Amino acid sequence: MTSATEQDKRLRYLDSMGIQVWARREPIQVEPVLVVEPGDTKDYPAATAGQADIAGLEWEALRDRVLNCTGCALHKQRTQAVFGVGSHTAQWMIIGEAPGADEDRQGEPFVGRAGKLLNNMLLAIGLQRAEVYIANIVKCRPPNNREPAPEEAQACAPYLARQIALIKPKIILALGRVAAQNLLRTDSPVGSLRGKRFYYEQTDIPIIVTYHPAYLLRSPQEKRKAWQDLLAAQELFSSL
Ligand code: URA
Ligand code: SF4
Repeated sequence: MTSATEQDKRLRYLDSMGIQVWARREPIQVEPVLVVEPGDTKDYPAATAGQADIAGLEWEALRDRVLNCTGCALHKQRTQAVFGVGSHTAQWMIIGEAPGADEDRQGEPFVGRAGKLLNNMLLAIGLQRAEVYIANIVKCRPPNNREPAPEEAQACAPYLARQIALIKPKIILALGRVAAQNLLRTDSPVGSLRGKRFYYEQTDIPIIVTYHPAYLLRSPQEKRKAWQDLLAAQELFSSL
């Protein structure tokens, strides 16, 4: 049972997520999480040639490598690469798509409007931004916020793989289609990846997929589903 104050707090965060107060009168059911075993995904080549050593880098060297990376065409138009932010001992990792204009300018993921919503989504399940780790599939901003191309995501993948290996999170939250499809090596749409539990590569780290906060800003009617996903992730985390 959560205390009245905690309940109040949660309602305030739900409110700031844009979820209507009538959510209060009608308790939201947590959808059962269907377990999907690894291997149900298509094969991609592993690390790009010449990047095998990334798997051995420690934090400082890894960040340095990313900030100076010219591994794909996205380096040409960036202001700076956006490495990732948060606790190196985080239990939760939050993975988005790519830096946008604000992130490119400030060098930190999720600092724009979508970032504000992400902060509120995290607070709604009791997580402070500083206690999780936030990163993106690609570290450099695609021009005009276009989607990262598959070869760009692939070129950048060893960095995220190393971040995950260093942190060893207990759970990964994948935000939106690009994050989900790259992490799970699948072409399935987000709608069909939600409500299931996948595992990251050959690990026992579960991945929960939800909508990207930028999408939720455009489609606020989907926020309730995102809330369901967050509750499912929280429940799964508690059971680990
Ligand atoms: N969208 C993302 O996917 N990542 C960011 O860092 C910002 C917006
Ligand atoms: Fe390097 Fe990744 Fe930036 Fe491409 S997106 S230049 S691979 S850091």
